[in-house]
Amino acid sequence: MKTQARVVVIGGGAVGVGTLYHLARKGWSDVVLIERRELTSGSTWHAAGLLPLFNLSYSVGQLHKYSVNLYRSLEEETGLNAGLSTVSNIRLARTQDRMDEYKYYAGIARTIGVHVDFLTPAEVKEIWPLMETHGIIGAIRHPEDGYIQPADLTQAMARGARNRGAEIYRNTTVTAISQKPNGEWLVTTDRGEITCEHVVSATGNFARKTGEMVGLDIPVIPVEHQYIVTEQHPLIMERRAKGLPEMGVLRESDSSWYMREEAGGLLLGPYEIGAPCCYVDGPSPTSEYELFQEDLDRLAPYIETAIERVPAFGEVGVKRVYNGAIAYTPDGSPIIGPAWNLRNFWLNEGHSFGITAAGGAGWQLAEWIVEGEPSVDMMGVDPRRFGPYAGRGYLRQKTEEAYAKVFTVHYPEEERGAARGLKRSPCYDRMAARGAVFGTVYGWERPGWFAPPGYALTASDLAKPDVLVNENHAEPDADGVIREKWSFRRSNAFPFVGAECRHVHEKVGLLDMSAFAKFEVSGPGAAQWLDSILTNKVPKAGRVSLSYLLTRRGGVRSEFTVFAMGPSSFYLVSAGALERHDGDYLIKLLPRDGSVRLERVTTQYGVFVLAGPRSRDLLAKLTDTDLSNAAFPWLTGKMISVGAATALAMRVNYVGELGWELHHPIEMQNYLFDLLFQAGAELDLKPFGIKAMDSMRLEKSYKLIPREMSIEYSAYESGLDRFISLKKGDFLGREALLTWREDGLLNAFVTLEVLDVTDADARGSEPIYIMNELVGRTTSGGFGWRVGKSLALAMVRPDLAVIGQALEVTILGERHRAVVIADSPFDPTNEALRS
Ligand SMILES: Cc1cc2nc3c(=O)[nH]c(=O)nc-3n(C[C@H](O)[C@H](O)[C@H](O)COP(=O)(O)OP(=O)(O)OC[C@H]3O[C@@H](n4cnc5c(N)ncnc54)[C@H](O)[C@@H]3O)c2cc1C
Repeated sequence: MKTQARVVVIGGGAVGVGTLYHLARKGWSDVVLIERRELTSGSTWHAAGLLPLFNLSYSVGQLHKYSVNLYRSLEEETGLNAGLSTVSNIRLARTQDRMDEYKYYAGIARTIGVHVDFLTPAEVKEIWPLMETHGIIGAIRHPEDGYIQPADLTQAMARGARNRGAEIYRNTTVTAISQKPNGEWLVTTDRGEITCEHVVSATGNFARKTGEMVGLDIPVIPVEHQYIVTEQHPLIMERRAKGLPEMGVLRESDSSWYMREEAGGLLLGPYEIGAPCCYVDGPSPTSEYELFQEDLDRLAPYIETAIERVPAFGEVGVKRVYNGAIAYTPDGSPIIGPAWNLRNFWLNEGHSFGITAAGGAGWQLAEWIVEGEPSVDMMGVDPRRFGPYAGRGYLRQKTEEAYAKVFTVHYPEEERGAARGLKRSPCYDRMAARGAVFGTVYGWERPGWFAPPGYALTASDLAKPDVLVNENHAEPDADGVIREKWSFRRSNAFPFVGAECRHVHEKVGLLDMSAFAKFEVSGPGAAQWLDSILTNKVPKAGRVSLSYLLTRRGGVRSEFTVFAMGPSSFYLVSAGALERHDGDYLIKLLPRDGSVRLERVTTQYGVFVLAGPRSRDLLAKLTDTDLSNAAFPWLTGKMISVGAATALAMRVNYVGELGWELHHPIEMQNYLFDLLFQAGAELDLKPFGIKAMDSMRLEKSYKLIPREMSIEYSAYESGLDRFISLKKGDFLGREALLTWREDGLLNAFVTLEVLDVTDADARGSEPIYIMNELVGRTTSGGFGWRVGKSLALAMVRPDLAVIGQALEVTILGERHRAVVIADSPFDPTNEALRS
């Protein structure tokens, strides 16, 4: 065994081998893979091998598409047949909401270049004559989808890697991993040690065990998954004898199962409610090719619906049941990317569709390692999208939930019920008493909108179509009442959100943004350091600026509100969802000479956004600080007293109205809340939620990561010119940004008014056309209540970023006229913010 290598990949399943293969393809031949038993002896060998292209995540969708293309070329490259069967995949719809999901998905597919067709029930029957079509209202079909033999795929990629110089050590177990003072890793195995620059953990069901070796609590716990293979069926054998094509993979989403032909019989895989998590403390050290005891009782309702749909399934005996472990993360997407807190330690874990993802995940991770950045926006799979809250107890609940919801309709505003109430700001109960309907971000409960007193959906509002899988509303609140029904169209929250927007615009509102990520940066080198990593000039003491952390390629990684508390101490605020992500980048960029200190203070401070024309009058009642424009202008901040409490008041907000963000010690939150609401009674202070904020930020054309801003778009494409100071000297990504602009920008940020909208606004990821030419994609969308327009933010071809340009946006399958309008349709000159 080698003692030195550039990269050590741990784990010889499809995912680890896919990573090794791509590292070698990138030209890094000095790479090794270590597998404790035989290749594929983890989850890979027993996978059903399906390659579903369908995925509502922009990141995962691109990985899956890449994989399928790669798998097609492997045999030619390696001489090994990976058993790819491009038999197509049909997903059935029995409800209108399911059809809406498919229509929304078809838009995403169009923007990432995945081919999908819509079929009528009669067309489905033609392709799948063994199925009954009762209850089906439509279907989608991916002609390029199919299945593969997972073990053969892994072997083909292993050969491809070996051919390029990579080495694979089987029957070798990694027992310890440590980092040397010079940053190199020492990987200890039962057959010797290897020193390397990078380690990739691709250990499937062992992920948490591997994490323990380096002090990472990796948010992955497997869940049991079963599939059933039947004996041969005469009708299928007859089709084969006649040389008829395979009927393809069939997915009855509304009954939560997949089915395909297998060796003349049928293979059925349900995703049932109640499947338990497993290997919570890791598989046993001797585990290999392991299956669990089958439990068909758990599958009974699903089997019943499968027989109703495909009677042939019930007509032959069961040949074999596979019950194996499938790794899950809390949201069901894998974790691919750098580990937090550690340099050059990479995770490719938590794959529940790992055969499908292996190629794409390996491709992007190899780019990340070799080139320093991936080319696809990986935010949806970044390991740092979960925080330390995602520990064992949380994971047990969330991974079982993620498994049970594989086939539920994934509404854009879906808020799942497991492990709720975990992180609450102190004012949670007060907000709940005022009717808050909560959503979550990074584990925090956050008011989404406010229902009026006594508001509850009725039984008829909640009436569900009669299908097995149908969860179209939020969980009941603490009082047992259900207040939110989800939709791809305007939901029942729509008018209430409108009322909140109007109230903020006309009077004054309070939003709890305590989930914001917050960092304190200080020390003699602080200003210089921030200058060297962020795009904008470091603000002068007492001032606030918006600044961006770019990738080395000039894409946008993070956005920070920077407040200068003094010449060498700064307070940085960024998106709540990105707390670990942004903190990790900041920490890894810190100078090593100790001249800059960084403290994570997210949980030390709560944040209230006080906004609206009456916000000054309200705050003035409680503070002796002069709040006049002259004394406290827009984009400045001060420590002020509010009653007996102290808060950092910053004159900024994301809604475009006069207002202040009050960053306060979290333990003073309820004192402050009560004081504000007592003083605010005569000014009609009301709380508002994140949905109203989102509507108002659209009207200001304010951008979000990873929508309008992402690593895939240059900061200039995202329209951040005024936050980029080229004069101040060098900063991270500056040269690449300029080169990108010189080479030519491919996209331009625009604000669109979408016309003829009745009940469905854009949401983001809708395709934009001129005639039939795809010319861009929306990144966000919704209704702007202050301007009375359906709006979308979008990236389009630069020559089309002209006010008045006519375009078309497809929303849920319908073409809408749209027109490019000036940014910030509400108050373009910021009169309200400056008032
Ligand atoms: C019943 C079933 C059906 C499935 N069907 C599909 C499907 O149709 N399509 C699909 O895409 N996915 C499917 N999956 C999921 C798929 O099997 C997994 O996502 C995929 O196999 C994960 O691959 P992996 O490489 O991450 O993990 P694994 O295949 O589990 O590989 C991890 C490897 O790491 C090794 N390892 C761990 N720790 C160490 C160590 N310390 N030292 C050395 N080696 C170590 C293990 O021995 C193991 O071989 C299915 C899963 C199940 C259970």
